[in-house]
Amino acid sequence: MAWNTFSTVAETVKALDDKQVSAVELATHYLDRADALQPALNAYVTLDREKTLVEAAAADAKRAAGETAPLLGVPIAHKDIYLIEGWRTTCGSKMLENFIAPYTSTVVKNMSDAGMVTLGKLNMDEFAMGSSNETSYFGPVKNPWDVSRVPGGSSGGSAASVAAGLAPASTGTDTGGSIRQPAMFCNLTGLKPTYGVCSRFGIIAFASSLDQAGPFAQTAEDCALLLTAMAGFDAHDATSLDRPKENYSRDLSRPLNGLRIGLPKEFFGEGVAPGIAKAVDDALTVYRKLGAITVEVSLPNVKYSVPAYYVVAPAEASSNLSRFDGVRYGHRAAQYSDLMDMYMRSRAEGFGAEVKRRILIGAYVLSHGYYDAYYLQAGKLRRLIAEDFKRAYEVCDVVMGPTAPETAFQFGAKSDDPVKMYLNDIFTICANLTGQPAMSHPCGVDEAGQHVGMQIIGNYLDEARMLNVAHQYQLATDWHRKHPSI
Ligand code: GLN
Repeated sequence: MAWNTFSTVAETVKALDDKQVSAVELATHYLDRADALQPALNAYVTLDREKTLVEAAAADAKRAAGETAPLLGVPIAHKDIYLIEGWRTTCGSKMLENFIAPYTSTVVKNMSDAGMVTLGKLNMDEFAMGSSNETSYFGPVKNPWDVSRVPGGSSGGSAASVAAGLAPASTGTDTGGSIRQPAMFCNLTGLKPTYGVCSRFGIIAFASSLDQAGPFAQTAEDCALLLTAMAGFDAHDATSLDRPKENYSRDLSRPLNGLRIGLPKEFFGEGVAPGIAKAVDDALTVYRKLGAITVEVSLPNVKYSVPAYYVVAPAEASSNLSRFDGVRYGHRAAQYSDLMDMYMRSRAEGFGAEVKRRILIGAYVLSHGYYDAYYLQAGKLRRLIAEDFKRAYEVCDVVMGPTAPETAFQFGAKSDDPVKMYLNDIFTICANLTGQPAMSHPCGVDEAGQHVGMQIIGNYLDEARMLNVAHQYQLATDWHRKHPSI
């Protein structure tokens, strides 16, 4: 098959190997397309043609010299939360509008070592706080399927770029659902690995006990290739898991006979839009045909996920974001009377409304006398939720359900009501609180033609198995092969 705009990563590697296309041709194609669609989608914050083409030419030279690397010459775009030396890294904020990263994050370095070529930096919600990409200082990203709708968030640029064929794959980060929910909204496959599988070094911190890096791609097969490149122990991250490198593609072809799918009754109740319930149901029928069996499980404490998250995440964010003080880096107010005034003005000018809301909540729940009442209690809830899952895995291998309770919504539909916005992550947040791996794959459309995602939550370090499950579904279906006509 000849290479085309919507070729997968696996197909692109083959096209490069077969000399159907060069790394420079690939990079040029995606850069041209990214430029052409930037006014319509606003997916990128920074493109740097010269830098990208230098990397691509180096990949071609390596190929010509007979050197090999698993993804040599394949382009990838990165969420603008990843530091890449010499690249502007904004995190979607005015605070870092002119910040040039002094070093490269481990995940990006690992991907470069695997031969990948950086295409550019992708738009995102400010400091990864949001579910719709409407909080970015650089303006919202549009959903390529319907530009009146949000692409999901906070990794909205990561999702829109791959869905629109502006990059064959991208990276995102997921603190409460920011890979899985935009993957669903844009009809992609996205994976949040087990906490500690990908290094957080060089990724701007939001909530350190929840943040994880992960890939966006069209297929589970591609996510396996990408995760194999991204993951690995890193001494620079104290929470990095010290274990041998894995090949996440190793189980892809395993049949699903006897796979036990746990269906939590809490994920199938009221509040799930009917079109989503139907698509998920149809997908489960496919899974049963593939030999899986479904069992009902109960996760009685997941109802506390959103409240626990909105204590833990703002608390950690308020602490992490204290480093943006206008002294060391980032925005500094032009006029101020003394040091305290400079801190206050720099932060007041540099941060947007949602970030300020999180800092205020975080400072409140961590303050003297409230720590025990909020942060400590939230920590206990995390433990209870983890125990619910532990019990579920006694009778099932993976847990499944809808990725989000609603499909892609219109711009402005939730931006005045933070609680409504926060509830969009009701099914995804639990896996961040427990640290389990979770992914989303396309499984149909609702009455309005908007895309539905199936979430697969796995036991710790079961990524290879989950990717196998999603891959087998994708061999039997073609939802993931649909592209917007943009
Ligand atoms: N939507 C959630 C929030 O606003 C999750 C964001 C994320 O995963 N980065 O915090």
